[in-house]
Amino acid sequence: MRDEVDAVSRALDEAAARDARTAPAPARSAAKDLETRHLYPTYRRPDLVFERGSGWTLWDSDGREYVDLLGGIAVNALGHAHPRIAKAIADQAGRLIHCSNLFRHSMQGALAERLARLSGLPRVFLCNSGTEAVEAGIKVARALARARGEPARTDLVALEGSFHGRTAGALSVTAEPSYRAPFEPLLQGVRFVPPEDVHALRETIGPRTACVLIEPIQGEGGVRCLSAPYLAAAREACDAAGALLLFDEVQCGLGRTGWWFAFQESGVLPDLACVAKPLAAGLPLGALLGREETAAILGPGSHGSTFGGGPLACRVALEFLDVVEEERLLERVRATGVRAVRAFRGLADRQPAVRDVRGRGLMIGIEIDRPAAPVVDALLKRGWIVGSCRGEVLRLLPPYAVPPEVLERFASVLGDLLNGEPS
Ligand SMILES: *Cc1c(COP(=O)(O)O)cnc(C)c1O
Repeated sequence: MRDEVDAVSRALDEAAARDARTAPAPARSAAKDLETRHLYPTYRRPDLVFERGSGWTLWDSDGREYVDLLGGIAVNALGHAHPRIAKAIADQAGRLIHCSNLFRHSMQGALAERLARLSGLPRVFLCNSGTEAVEAGIKVARALARARGEPARTDLVALEGSFHGRTAGALSVTAEPSYRAPFEPLLQGVRFVPPEDVHALRETIGPRTACVLIEPIQGEGGVRCLSAPYLAAAREACDAAGALLLFDEVQCGLGRTGWWFAFQESGVLPDLACVAKPLAAGLPLGALLGREETAAILGPGSHGSTFGGGPLACRVALEFLDVVEEERLLERVRATGVRAVRAFRGLADRQPAVRDVRGRGLMIGIEIDRPAAPVVDALLKRGWIVGSCRGEVLRLLPPYAVPPEVLERFASVLGDLLNGEPS
């Protein structure tokens, strides 16, 4: 085992030391070999090994350069190797990385205060991922109903096309059957309704509904933006039935749309909101945010996390929020998003293979007339990293400071590719 690990690090070092262009593939094949033998095969990965990045550029072990328009699935919002993030990590690592949640450090309160001010939701629970934030939200909703003398109010309502995570609770409100099937039975009392159907929502929410979970922009569900009237109708239906409204902003939140929270554009405030992906600029950190009334029921010992809200992650999250503010990135995301969507709509006008262009800010979906996965692979071969979702949708979640010209260049590369022109 030890030898194998050493062999990989040696191979990586050697590859890095060689001239980038002529470096052969030992790092690639050694990494692949070990993964194939020892990892659970839960991911389908291309044959390359990333070694470093800067801004929206990544380099692999062969020295090849890639434009990263996926940003680690909405995580690397400040791009790779941002100097202020690298400095904050190094500095905090030399002071205090972890002290457990049994003790206080100075940054949890500071981060909670910042998130409360930005969201309008004053209570914060810190965890390590999006799925844990959703899990905490489900627990809060059920515990609150019970504390109010309604123990039968345990049902959950979510949308078709939803993605809320992979733990048993969050998976129960994730619609995709192939994600759920191997693990059933999941939580009981979950109903899925079609998005934008106000009638179905009103019919389904009732006296047994603890919580309604909605992504204001569905990410895995194909970059689908829910309308402000629909979100407002969900708010009204929840108020009428005494249910909590949870907005899952793990993917669309924290500046991705050009707003701190996507729900702010709609003017609808939820009872609970989940954030995670970009929060600590690549370190694991998630948060459940809630209205004051949702907090008192969870006393000491009722919920917890060993790692959640540790000093290192909180320090980096504060730095992330500072950088977004000081570099005026929300304005930049809005402006770049407008130019990108214009470029992609222009492409759609010339290229019938592009069926639809959707999104807000730098959360963009391009629906094409064929399976997206082979197109994603072909783009990768040409040095462009994008994601796919819902089968035929290309998904872009680039770093906030990506220049609009890069996205315009991508539009033309994609046009050539869909035309079948060689790179
Ligand atoms: C990614 C995602 C999650 C799950 O987050 P993890 O950090 O992977 O656990 C939950 N909800 C949405 C909307 C997401 O995009």
